[in-house]
Amino acid sequence: MRHCLQYGDEEICYQVNRVDSRKQKISIHVYPDGTVQVDAPTDADLVGIFDAVRVRARWISKRLEEIRKRNLHVLPREYVSGESYFYLGRRYLLKVNENPGEVGRAKLTGRYLQVFAPTAEQALIKRFVKVWYRARAKELFARRLSELAEQIVWLREMPPVKLLTMRIQWGSCSPSGVVVLNPNLVKAPRECVDYVILHEVCHLKEHNHSHKFYRLLTELMPDWERHKLRLDGLAEALLND
Ligand SMILES: [Zn+2]
Repeated sequence: MRHCLQYGDEEICYQVNRVDSRKQKISIHVYPDGTVQVDAPTDADLVGIFDAVRVRARWISKRLEEIRKRNLHVLPREYVSGESYFYLGRRYLLKVNENPGEVGRAKLTGRYLQVFAPTAEQALIKRFVKVWYRARAKELFARRLSELAEQIVWLREMPPVKLLTMRIQWGSCSPSGVVVLNPNLVKAPRECVDYVILHEVCHLKEHNHSHKFYRLLTELMPDWERHKLRLDGLAEALLND
C-alpha cells in the first residue's frame, strides 16, 4: 500500500512492507530508483509507521535529492517528450508537438513545457527551448531588478543587464557596472534569482567580497545564505543544459 506525507513543499510517498516478526523494528529504505519502502512488523499501526517516516523525513528527502541529482548527472539531457525541464524551481515535462506548418515556439501549459515545431529533430527542439528560456530570463530579470531596486536607497540608476550563459557562474558584475546574469538562473526558485540579482547589484557599490559587501547584502536580504545554499545544491542540475 502506498502512503504519502508532506515534507516542506515536497511529497514523500512510501510503501509499507509487512514483515512477519515481532522482533522486527520499523526500518526505512530508499532504493536507487527512488522508491521509499518501510518494513514494519505486522502489528505496527499506520499512525506509528507514519510517525516513523515523519521523524526521518529530512533524511529521506536528502536521499531522494541525491538520487535525482545522480540521475540528472548520468543521463544526458534529451529534447524529447517526457524529459524534465525546470522553470522557477518547478519541474515541467517537455511535450514535443510536431506540425510541418509550425515556425517553432515553446510555451508553458499546466505541468508541460510544450514545444511546437515543424519536426521533432532534437537539435531543433533544443534551440526552441533555449530561445524560450532566454526570453523568460530576460523578462523576469528585468522585472525583478526593477522591483528589488525600489528598496535599494543607494542605487541611483538601473544598471544595464546582460545575459550570458556560463558554465559555473550564475552572475557577475563588470567593473563598468554591467550586471551579467546566466539565463539558466531562470530555472531556479524565485528567491534564488533574487539572491543572485541582489548579490551582483551590491557589487556596484562594493567590488569585492569584503565585510562591507556582505553587510550590504544582508541588509537587503537577511536570509541570503539559505538561498545561496539551495542554489549551490541545484547548480549541477541547472547549469548543465
Ligand atoms: Zn560576488
